[in-house]
Parts: sequence; structure tokens; C-alpha cells
Amino acid sequence: EEVDDMAVKAKKKKWGKKVGDHFEKELAKLQRMNPQVAEYSIQRNYLDLFLDLPWNEFSKDKFDLKRAERILNRDHYGLEDVKRRIIEYLAVLKLRNDMKSPILCLYGPPGVGKTSLGKSVAEALGREYVRMSLGGMRDEAEIRGHRKTYIGAMPGRIIQSIKKAGTSNPVFILDEIDKLASSHQGDPSSAMLEVLDPEQNSDFHDNFLEMGFDLSKVMFIATANNLGSIQPALRDRMEIINVTGYTIEEKVEIAKRHLLPKQLKEHGLSSKDLKIGKPQMEKIVEGYTRESGVRGLEKQIAKMVRYAAKSIAIEEEYSVKISNQDVEKVLGPARLERDKYENNQVAGVVTGLAWTSVGGDILFIESILSKGKGNLTITGNLGKVMKESATIAMEYIKSNADYFGLDSEVFGNYNVHIHVPEGATPKDGPSAGITMLTSLVSLFTQKRVKKSLAMTGEITLRGKVLPVGGIKEKILAAKRARIKELILCEENRRDVMEIKEEYLKGLTFHYVTDMSEVIDIAI
Ligand code: ADP
Repeated sequence: EEVDDMAVKAKKKKWGKKVGDHFEKELAKLQRMNPQVAEYSIQRNYLDLFLDLPWNEFSKDKFDLKRAERILNRDHYGLEDVKRRIIEYLAVLKLRNDMKSPILCLYGPPGVGKTSLGKSVAEALGREYVRMSLGGMRDEAEIRGHRKTYIGAMPGRIIQSIKKAGTSNPVFILDEIDKLASSHQGDPSSAMLEVLDPEQNSDFHDNFLEMGFDLSKVMFIATANNLGSIQPALRDRMEIINVTGYTIEEKVEIAKRHLLPKQLKEHGLSSKDLKIGKPQMEKIVEGYTRESGVRGLEKQIAKMVRYAAKSIAIEEEYSVKISNQDVEKVLGPARLERDKYENNQVAGVVTGLAWTSVGGDILFIESILSKGKGNLTITGNLGKVMKESATIAMEYIKSNADYFGLDSEVFGNYNVHIHVPEGATPKDGPSAGITMLTSLVSLFTQKRVKKSLAMTGEITLRGKVLPVGGIKEKILAAKRARIKELILCEENRRDVMEIKEEYLKGLTFHYVTDMSEVIDIAI
């Protein structure tokens, strides 16, 4: 009777003739099997999958762009450019009415709202939402499944996700597409390419299913922290939308409007039970989080909310309106002063700006002299390119000793040691070039570097300054650290021009083309 049940269900499926015929044939096989043998349950699971999959079942799209805009705005503070790009994308989709346009890829540091934007898009379109994390996936079979004959075989994660979605046109988030690893177990990126290719994905082959499944109506949205590690062919298929980090002011707004209400709701409380004012929010952002996004901030706010929830539950007195002391009572003493700019008390210490996949940060470059024979040592877990910058800086100083008023004798009589603190964090890239050089000039001349100044730029052996990436992230980090002046390459001026005025408030920019200008400003 199990077989009969399945036959009845099969009548209701909207699959095509090919799939229908295949199902009947496989069902007949099941009928001939002895229910006691292991193959029976494998075959039954196989047929169940066919019955569970949403063949040709679609939700109807709501292409009301005004409504879409409202939903995006309701769930996300700021991000004006990103929201505009998404709305434009939906507009094109509406006009063309197919999914042949490139896949959206939201690119930015963790916790800036990439996944949650995807969710809002699903809601705006009235589509189901599924999410699949690609982080660390190295086996092609995870995407495409194992053949049925394989012990413990299962369909791949794509087909599993579609089953979960229950329609054939969900919004499908491919989280961390940059973390797809390749290994000897096949290359998952090439399977991913097939999934995303409109020429091929109407007949996506899963090894377990043994039948093509139509993915062409799925709306894929990818997220990534690092564009560099996405396979180039995959990257070409995607339209990249940059979601950068937030300023302290924005974080405070996000916390007040979204994170706190959300946490209160999750804990069964209301806004009457806990109030956190702006200064206290700012204290939480600055003292307890260090990130471009707001994930850590959300966790800290959750702690505050738990404190209120617990006090209410055990009927204990507590302050509804949180003071600075309350913040410290609940979260402990403010921990993160590291991000703060430290005054340069000694020569040889310079503040640089770094950019990693988790956002911008400031870093300090220190160098010291010791008696020796002119050796250069570099420490602080630096990558190859960054070490090269140090060598270039050293050579440049040596060949321009006169210009800096240095006796070239000194180079032979001292060893130089350059260190970039926080040795546990790997650092690389050419963008600390001017910082290293400034550090060395400051060291050899024993003149301290100007206060509240930070810099980023690549150098050449001839002392030219070249532009570097991640300018917006770096500027946000500089503001977080209360830096006042920045030295950037002239060619980075246009990157700064693209940044909203409010991000730049309180900063003075110096644009340079040559190392001598850097030294004139800094020392
Ligand atoms: P990502 O995918 O970029 O790592 P998430 O989408 O998981 O980040 O966001 C982390 C949390 O922060 C979520 O709860 C999200 O709703 C919230 N969040 C991030 N950015 C914003 C924003 N601009 N407005 C409101 N909430 C935000």
C-alpha cells in the first residue's frame, strides 16, 4: 500500500513526462523488491525525494518596486547605494522577466547585513528563502550529491535546499562563495559554475537524483568577504555590489533602531523594559566591539537584554535606563582600547592603515636601532609583499641619505628591526610601504612623527607613492581610532571623492605623489 500511496501522490506532481515516466519505472522496481532488504529503503528514499521536490512549482512574484523599497528600508538602516542597486536589479528583472541577468554578489566584511539583505529581497518578491553556506566546501559531491549506489548516498546540497524551499524559484543565498575550496575530491567551483550558468542550469544534474532539475528560475544571491579568492570564471558571472562597513554614528543608529528592538522581542521584552541612550550605545560600540559590521555589537546588546530579562524574571531591581556604570557592570570593564590611536611618544613609531577581509584597521609600525652591521630584521607575522616593502624602504633611505640629512656611515653600524605589533594577526600587501619608510626616516633622524596622523600607500624604489585599495574601510578605521589627518596617494583622491561627506567629517587629507612630500608632512 506504500506503493499505492506514492502513486497517488505522483498524480499530483507537476513534473514533465520524462520525470513522470522515470518515476513510474522506479516505483515498479520498488514494488518488485523485498521490503526486508536494505535496497528497499534506499529506493523508497529515492522516490520520496521525487515526491518532495517542487517540480515546476513556483510562487508568484510581487514586482511592486515601491513595496520592495519599503521592505529594504524597514529592515536596514543606511546602505542607500546598496539598496538602490538592488532595486535597479529587480527593475531589470521585472522588465525582462527572466533570470538571465548576472547573479548578485554582495561583497563586504562580516556582519554588515549581506545575508539579511538577501532575506529582505526574498520577502519583497514574495519568494521562499533558502541559504546555503559554501564556507570550506571542498568536495564536488556536496553540491552535486553521490550516486545512489554509494552507501549512505544523499542528494547534493543544492537539491536539498530546493526541497527545503518548497518552490522552484526561491531566493537562494550562496553564503561565502569566496570560501569554496578546491581539493582532490573534485572542484566544487566548476559545479557551482554550472549551477549559475543560465545556459546549463535549466537541467542541473544531481548524481543522486539521476535526473536534471530546472534551476533557471532560482534567484541566486552570493555573498563574499574577499573578491580575490573567488574563482575568476565565477566572478565574471556575478554583479558585485560593495557593502562597506559602518561609522560609529551609523552603528549607534542601527543598534537603536534595529538590534535593540530585535533582541528585546526575542527575549519577550518590550522597549519599556530596557532603554539604552546614545552615549551608552556609543560606549558599547567603542569599548566592546571592534569590527566593520555589527555582529559583535548585536551580541553585546543581547547581553544587556539578558541582564534586564533575568532581573525581571527573579523580580530584582534593575535600571531600566542604562547608565555608563550599568554598561560596565553588565559587560565588564571596557576592553578594547587597542583601536585607539596612541600618541607617538618615540621616534620610529608610525600609524598605518590596513585592510583585511574583516574590514579596515589601524596598525602601528615600530622600528628600532641596535649596534650591529647593517642587518634588517622584520617581525610581526608579515607576508612576503609586506616584507618587500620594508626592504624597498630601507634601500630607498640608504640611497637618499643626503636628502634626509643622514650620514651614510650609520647604516653600516646599526641593525634595524621593524616590527608590526599584534604578531598573531597575519598582515600582507604593499599598502604599508609609506608607513615603513616614514618609520625608518623618523628612526634615523630621531624625530617624532606628527600626532594623530595615519597613512597608507605603496612605494617604489624611486620613492614614488602608488595608490592602494580599501580606502573607505581604512577611512572608517581611522575615524574609529580618532585619527585627524591622513596621507594618501594623489590617485586615491577619486576614491575619497566617492565617499559620503559625513564619513569624512573631521579628517584632513593630504594627497601626495612622492615620498619626500610624505616626510615633509609627517616629520
Ligand atoms: P553578513 O551577512 O554581512 O555577515 P548579517 O546579514 O548576518 O551580516 O548581519 C548581521 C546582523 O546585523 C543581522 O542581525 C542584521 O540584521 C544586522 N544588520 C546589519 N546591517 C544592518 C543595517 N544596516 N540595518 C539594520 N540591521 C543590520
